[in-house]
Amino acid sequence: MLMFQPLEPLLGAFVREGGNAGIILSTRRPLGMQRFTAAHELGHLALGHDPHADDDRILRRAPWAGDGMGGVPVPTEEREADAFASYFLLPPYLMKEQMAVQGWEPRHFEHPETVYQASLRFGTSYRATVFALEREHVIGRNLGQQLRRAEPRDLKRALLGDFDLKNAQRMDVWHLTERDEGAVIEASRDDLFLLRLKEDSGGGYVWTFDELSDAGFVILRDGREPVPVGRIGAPTVRRVLARAERPIAGQLTVREVRPWAPDDDPQLLTLYCRTATSDEAGLFEPQREELLAAQ
Ligand SMILES: [Zn+2]
Repeated sequence: MLMFQPLEPLLGAFVREGGNAGIILSTRRPLGMQRFTAAHELGHLALGHDPHADDDRILRRAPWAGDGMGGVPVPTEEREADAFASYFLLPPYLMKEQMAVQGWEPRHFEHPETVYQASLRFGTSYRATVFALEREHVIGRNLGQQLRRAEPRDLKRALLGDFDLKNAQRMDVWHLTERDEGAVIEASRDDLFLLRLKEDSGGGYVWTFDELSDAGFVILRDGREPVPVGRIGAPTVRRVLARAERPIAGQLTVREVRPWAPDDDPQLLTLYCRTATSDEAGLFEPQREELLAAQ
């Protein structure tokens, strides 16, 4: 069973009660951290460990480290659960596939913002992503150390320009481009979506976002990025910032069309979006519904 509780400073716990195993997750962390914690606790379960509670040290230490902060040795069971979580959330094939889809080369991960966007698509925390990239030797230890110094909240703010981001720890900012065609976006309720799409304005094409509004998104900003000097005729970049007003679930297609012939050769960007609520205390919703149905 999976349950959410407003734990603090604990992030999660693996419990056994009367022969039943369960995981408790804190509601007070963003989705990526909750997923890493859940995977760590699942590791305790899968590996037959004793009941146990975890604080945020599980996020700060490398999954392969023999000692934690300040030279204190990490117990074997913790190291095993960390390693389980790292491979479970970010198996090598998933990393390779996503790198191919996005056109990311190892050198792109020198930029913390790329690592942050990768972490959203991997569904894990920023730091867990840095550790996994090191684990697979996509990046070296020195770069890993450098990347860990960057703060995701600064990366989020840098994407938004003059838009005032409140509660930067809780929400994520998805930077979406044509590369995300067909992507599954599992986002928190308050996440922001920055769409940056090439627009063939010379050919008369414009992106339309009616479907975004129909699907329950509110458009917070809509504009075009200035074309660099001397690059007349280059495609412009349409820049739209949106947020879901209500929970969303399903396919979403935005279209780039010529307004006078909207059905003639449109460019499409299709995303599969789902809101994941994880900040309400109680049983994991599908399990709660199953229990209620069984009564
Ligand atoms: Zn643990």
